Formats: sequence, C-alpha cells, structure tokens
Amino acid sequence: MVVLAFAAGLGLLSIASLAPPAINANPTSTEFSSARAREYLKAITLKPHPIGSPAHAEVRDYILNALVNMRFQPQVQTTTAVNTQWEPPYRGATVENIVAKLQGTANTRAVLLVAHYDAAQLSLGASDDGAAVVSLLETLRALKASAPLKNDVIFLATDGEEAGLLGATAFVQQHPWAKDVGVVLNFEARGDHGPSIMFQTSDENGWLIDEFAESVSSPVANSLSADIYKLLPNDTDFTVFNKAGMNGLNFAYIEGSGVYHSSLDSMANLDERSLQEHGMSALALARGFGNSNLNGPRNSGNDVYFDLFGRTLIHYSRTTALVLSTLVTLITLGVIALGLRRGLLTWSGQALGFLALLLSMIAATLVVMLVSWALDTLAVSQTSFQQGDTQTNHLYLIGFALLAVATTAIIYGLFRKKVSVDNLATGALLWFLLLLIAAHIYFPGGSYLFVWPLLSALIVWILKFTLPAGKLSLTKLCLISAVCAAPGIILISPLIYQIFIAVGISQTSLIVVAVTLLLGLLLINFEFVASSFRWLLPAAATLAAVGFIVAALLQPRQQPKSNEIFYALNADTGKAVWATSDARPDEWTSQFLSTNAATAPLNDYFPWLSGGEVFLQQSAPATTLAAPEIKILDDQVQDQIRQIHMRVSSPRDAAQLFIYSGTEISEASINGQPLAKRQDAPAWQKDQMLIYSAPPREGVELVLKTKSSEPLILKVVDRSFQFPELTNVTIKARPSDIVPTPFSYSDSTFIGKSFSLP
Ligand SMILES: [Zn+2]
Repeated sequence: MVVLAFAAGLGLLSIASLAPPAINANPTSTEFSSARAREYLKAITLKPHPIGSPAHAEVRDYILNALVNMRFQPQVQTTTAVNTQWEPPYRGATVENIVAKLQGTANTRAVLLVAHYDAAQLSLGASDDGAAVVSLLETLRALKASAPLKNDVIFLATDGEEAGLLGATAFVQQHPWAKDVGVVLNFEARGDHGPSIMFQTSDENGWLIDEFAESVSSPVANSLSADIYKLLPNDTDFTVFNKAGMNGLNFAYIEGSGVYHSSLDSMANLDERSLQEHGMSALALARGFGNSNLNGPRNSGNDVYFDLFGRTLIHYSRTTALVLSTLVTLITLGVIALGLRRGLLTWSGQALGFLALLLSMIAATLVVMLVSWALDTLAVSQTSFQQGDTQTNHLYLIGFALLAVATTAIIYGLFRKKVSVDNLATGALLWFLLLLIAAHIYFPGGSYLFVWPLLSALIVWILKFTLPAGKLSLTKLCLISAVCAAPGIILISPLIYQIFIAVGISQTSLIVVAVTLLLGLLLINFEFVASSFRWLLPAAATLAAVGFIVAALLQPRQQPKSNEIFYALNADTGKAVWATSDARPDEWTSQFLSTNAATAPLNDYFPWLSGGEVFLQQSAPATTLAAPEIKILDDQVQDQIRQIHMRVSSPRDAAQLFIYSGTEISEASINGQPLAKRQDAPAWQKDQMLIYSAPPREGVELVLKTKSSEPLILKVVDRSFQFPELTNVTIKARPSDIVPTPFSYSDSTFIGKSFSLP
C-alpha cells in the first residue's frame, strides 16, 4: 500500500510541478517583471474591447502610447483583410495591427513576437490575450535595457484575431516586414491560469526545440500534444503564420477555461504567474533567437520532446526515437523469450496477460461511463458535468481514476486464479509495445510515452529471469517494480491531467484508458497488496472513489449563471424584437421578455439562419437609429456578366456588417481583396454571408459579378455591441452573478435592411 501511495504521490507531484514558477518579487531592470506588465494590463482590461468597438480604439491608443514612451516608433497597419479559409461565413475586417521594431546590430532575420489585442465580444480580454500583449511590451522594455541583440525583434499586436485571424492575415499578406521574419513566437490563452505550454511548432522543428530547450527555464511541452493539436479544428494567429511558411512556436495557458471569452476573463481572475511565464519565455527566446544566425544551416529534422516536472526538456530526433524504439522492441522480445525458456512464462499466459489489460481498459471505461451516465441522467445535482476544469470536475477526475483502479484490481483478482503474476505483468507490457509501434505510425511525437516506461519496466523482468529462482522475494520485487514504474508515472500522469484540462471530463474513456494502462506497470504491486487480502485494493479504491464523487456532488455550483438577450430591428417592416436562445426568461431577462413571449424563428431578421433555429422573443419598440445603406457606384453588363460596384455602410457606425447574398455571385471582392475559397467554385454562394468587422464610417466597397439576370438580392444587417437607446425604456443593470452568454449574440443591437437591385 505504501508503494501504491508512492506511485500516486509521484503522479500528483509530476502534475503539480507543471504550475508556473513563483513571481519574481525583485526583478532587475533586464529581467521580466510581471508587476510592470500588470500596470499595462490594468489599463487595457477596463471594458470588453472587440474589434470595431470604441473601447478597442482606446486599447490601441494605449499600446501605441506605451511603445512611444519606451522610445519606439510604432506604426499602425490599417488595411482590409479577409479570411475565406474557414467554413462560411467569410470573415473580413478593417484591421489595425500595431507594429514596432527593435533594431538589431547585425540582423540575419527578424524575431517576430505576436499577441492579439482585440478581445472576444463580451470579454475583458485579460488572459485572452491581454496578458500576452503586456508580457511582450514588458519583454521589449527588458530587451531595450539589455545589451543589443544581433537580430531585429518585431513586436506585432494583431487585431481581429477573434473575428477570424484577420490581423495576422493582413500582416503576412501585406506588411513589408513579413518577408524578413525568421521565427515567430505567438502567445495565447484559453483560461486564466496554469503553465504557459508550448503546444505547437512549425514543421521541421529540430532547431526550434534546441533553442527552446536551451533558453526556457520552465519548459512545459511535449511532442504528442503538438501531434494531437494538428487534428483539432482550433486556430490561433499561429495558423496563419504557419500556413504562410513561417517557422515558430506557439504558447498558451489553458487552465480555468470557464472564463474563456466571457466577462470573467478579468484581471482579478488572472493568475499573475501565468502572465510571468509567458513573459519569461518570450524574453528568453527573443534573446536566444535574437543572437543566433537565422539564415544559417539548421537542424531541420523533427524532434521528439517532453518536459520533466516542467523543469527540463528532453529532446532527440525522430531518427533517434526510431532506433531507440527498435532496441526496446528487441529487448522486450528477448526478455519474453528468456522467460519462456526458463519456464516462467507460457504462450497462453502471455495471451491472457495481454487480454487482461484489454478487459480492464474496457471494463473500467464501461464502469465510469455508467457512473457518469447515472449522475447525469438522474440529475443528482446540477453541478454534474458542466464543462471546464472546475473544482468539481477535478474531484470527479480523481473519483473516476480510482474507479479505474478498483475495476482493474478486480479483473486481475479474477485472472490471477488462472495465470501467474509473471505472465500477467509481462503480458500487460505487450500493450506498451503495441502502442509504441502504433505511435511511430500515427503519432511519432508520442513514442516517448511508451518507450521509456517500457524500457524501465523491463529491468524488473531482466532481474527476475536472470537471477536464480527465489533470489528475489515478493517484497523486493515490489519495491523494484515501483521504482521501475516511475518513468511511466512521471510521463503519463501529466498527460492524463492535460487531457482532462484540454478536452474536459466528458472525454472519460480517454482518461480511464490512460489510467488503466499506467496500472499495467504496477501489477506486481497489486499482487503484493492482494497477498494479504485479495479484495483489499478493490474495496479501498471503490470506497475512496465514492468519497470523491460524493464530494463532487456536494460542491456548490461553480459556473456563473449566464443569459442572452439581444435587440433586432427589421428596417423593411419597422418591427423590432428582444430575443434570446435561452429556454426561458430569468430574473434579469424578464424585463425584456414577459411570460407569454413566443418561441419562433428569426429568419426575417437573420436570413442566414436555417429554418430550424428558434428564439424566445417579444416585440420591442422600434429604434430611430439609421439602417445600413447601399450606394451603387457602377452597374454594367458585359458578356452576360453583370458587375456591380457598391458601397455598403453603417450610418450609425456599428461594429460589424453582416452582408448576406440571396443570389449566387461568381466573383467578389471587398476593398480590393478577393473573396474566394477555391478558384473553380463560385466566390459567393447563394445564402452565404460575409461578416465584416470594424467597417470605416464611409463604408466598404464591394464589387460583385453575377451571371444571374434576376434582381440581385442582398440583406445587410449591422451590429453594435450594446443595447439601443429607446424612449421610455430603462434597462436595469445585469446582476453581478450573471454574465452574458459567451459566443452568443447577447448585448448587441442588430438593424437589418433588404436590397433588391433590379
Ligand atoms: Zn486569443
């Protein structure tokens, strides 16, 4: 039991050690100071500042001013950018990127430091991505206070990241400095605390990983997460740089995802240590890459890498990994052959050992799925299974892991009646061998997870099979086994935790399978515990699991209440509504929606919605605000193709234009930027939309070509990020314990007008 406690303790230590380092209370002028960075952050997180909002302009000016105060000569790159790479709708914006350059003494190529200064619509943007912006400002200050670097360092605060990676797109496509970039370092956040993880690299990353390992004092990174991230649909500005062929590294802290894109992403909720770790990495890497030859020959292989306790990075090439894996495979087969020859292992025993771990994985997954289904269905508590890495979900995680221990222990208790422990334990190692081979085929970056634990676990069996029988007592074997399981525990436990943080408690099967696999390294210890009482471990683990799950159920509700309400006016009919996708009005939205509010579609207001979407709505007084306008500048037909040149504007200076076309458009451009997904497809399909953020007051210029001889049908809806002023309507302030629903239409005013151009 002591040994199992040691294993659990080591696992927890390897998770806890990932936390960012403590605040540097007395930084020198050349060191990174989170306290100095916090001063900037205070100023830029006063209000939500999505692109197109007045608060956004204040943040832009503040950053410019901070740069000027540091004696930089910042520029604003104001231009139109479009993103047609994502699924429709298309995204576009008039972005205002902030750039500044710290001149190097003998520039080879530039180091580009990137963070985005726009925030999600309802977010104060403290973590996403204010902390990153201010860490880069503080990095610039520290660089300026130090000996000059060889290479130029470019500071880029991108705009319109949340609106579609638009600032980054504008920089790579249109800024003259883009072609000089040698390495990109991008900083992001998806929560409010946790280590700043280096989770993504460009391809052929050997030289990047070399520098990262050498420069960064608290590296948290592994090549498996980089492989997995490639499969996820998530995007950051780094995607744009990477696609443009730039090399670099991408960082984010992701714990506390409950605040993501919400008004809770505030300075009060931010863990200053995460900001500091962003900054320390940025500063160390700016110095490292800043003094290297970014044009010279480089290690262009791909590395396998992983951190140990967040303190040091182990890294080697994929070729080395392959050689290592081949050796370990041969040793595994050799050890099993030795066991078979000495009569300690049997073929059937190996098969049963392999089967036992498989059954444990399946059984543990089923048990945990059943328990979570029961908790969910019986709705024992509203606190069950909310998204995110809340305190409650941490307790569930431990409870589920313990259920996996109990299930595995029961299965092994049953198998043990028929099969020797030697067969069961070595048979389980065949899973590591199988996964090692699979990793090399599918996730080369993940081979480290299996090769080191397997190699270490084999030591037990090399000793057992070479020493004379009876030389190693069960107690000794148990101790050796625990020590040899350490690499597995140290490498796999943080990964289990990171899976939980990244994808949430709902992905229980992945978490449970990983826990069970880890237990496959500790079967001799199971044997030792069972030698005193067969059901001791299953009973103790079940009891502890129940304890944690009950504790989770007793937790108070941790996620704040949220609601959505928005205002929409259809200028064609003069009708207006208050509407929400919430099921019913709550204590605050009931001021807009009476109890007899109806649920109906809003297609008259938003023609891009499919018919199926319905909203709870109530008629509202019409605002006197002006509707969007279209002014035709030119309209002609040539070779049966009609080309219309128009200006689309929001006279009320709204933050976004939703431009919807009811006609198929063969070619289109906005402010001269072409809109096209593929060369052969129509530029703009019928019922498709372009969301254009921060249109200038005078409007945007749209050129559309269509083969249709019917009237051209357009609908333009503009959106501002506030409620309208209405006569005789006073809106009560939202209670402080309710937040506007993130990713929703909440707290916006939409005014739409249809246009039919005959
Ligand atoms: Zn972001």
